Amino acid sequence: MEKPPPDWRSNRAAVQATNDDASASKLSCVKKGYMKDDYIHLFVKRPVRRSPIINRGYFVRYAALRKLLYEFLDYEVNIDGKGNKKQILSLGAGYDTTFFQLQDEGKAPYLYVELDFKEVTSRKAALIESSIQLRSKVGETASISQEKGEVLGSHYKLLPVDLRDTQQLDDIISQANIDPSLPTFIIAECVLIYLDSKSSCAVVGWASKTFPTAIFFLYEQIRPDDAFGQQMIRNLESRGCALLSIDATPTLQAKERLFLDQGWQRAAAWDMVKVYSAFIESQEKRRIERLELFDEFEEWYMMQEHYCVTCAINDSLGAFKNFGFFKEETGVDASVSTAHGQE
Ligand code: SAH
Repeated sequence: MEKPPPDWRSNRAAVQATNDDASASKLSCVKKGYMKDDYIHLFVKRPVRRSPIINRGYFVRYAALRKLLYEFLDYEVNIDGKGNKKQILSLGAGYDTTFFQLQDEGKAPYLYVELDFKEVTSRKAALIESSIQLRSKVGETASISQEKGEVLGSHYKLLPVDLRDTQQLDDIISQANIDPSLPTFIIAECVLIYLDSKSSCAVVGWASKTFPTAIFFLYEQIRPDDAFGQQMIRNLESRGCALLSIDATPTLQAKERLFLDQGWQRAAAWDMVKVYSAFIESQEKRRIERLELFDEFEEWYMMQEHYCVTCAINDSLGAFKNFGFFKEETGVDASVSTAHGQE
């Protein structure tokens, strides 16, 4: 694919630095008791304390992904001769620690693959190599190369890639020993929105063509046009990490269309206000709402309206009929689109 021209609003180092921000925010949540993560502190140089709004926002994002991931991992999908093997592919994974946590929980899939820019995978590989705790989780026989930015274990792979080049993504399939016929959960958290819209479309299309049985979890910003959205965009642009794709998918409907137009069979996009009210377990909400004093409700709703989860499904085996946002009792009629229009 032809490389797009560079855009002054976005630079590689600044976009990579959003990973350090995310890791620091996750650690802030862990320290306040929002979630458990025994590994994230290994990736944060300078711990910071975030505001209750930011902590709560990260919690909702984490809880939504967890719920969908567990559902995927718990589904019995038996493919002839391959049993119930599953894969997780994390695009722009940064220092995410989900793999290590799933290992501890005894829930790790057959194969977990993480991709990011080489600068980031090199640093992650070095941190994994230098920590006994992390190294034991990727397997003692894993080969780790900081220089190549690679970790190659039998069930875990970390590889460098530029997501804007789908040829590189094709090469990853063989390098990481990914079996496209296995059920695959693809994670793209705050990643595709930084790509130019042609490239993010291409990634979504590549994933649809490659994986006939798959769930795509996309978490990112929406609504660039109101006052809050414009401020959010200005803040990020001034730091050199412009949301290059946001104008191509500014609404929930546009996020769904992106997936359907790129060949996904079903797609549902919910903003985080809806995810929190209709998807996160009540028990969990009661628990976290007691953790910190919280009175900025207006700002909280405004922020949550500007982030969303899109869940798209390719279901060649008919295995994921009632999955995630597509459950009958969650009111599918208003919020689920199929390749044939609203369902
Ligand atoms: N998904 C992680 C990290 C988000 S930060 C989380 O939610 O915590 C965004 C990440 O996307 C960064 O690590 C950045 O390096 C990566 N990224 C952005 N553009 C990329 C590209 N073109 N190719 C590969 N990785 C990219």
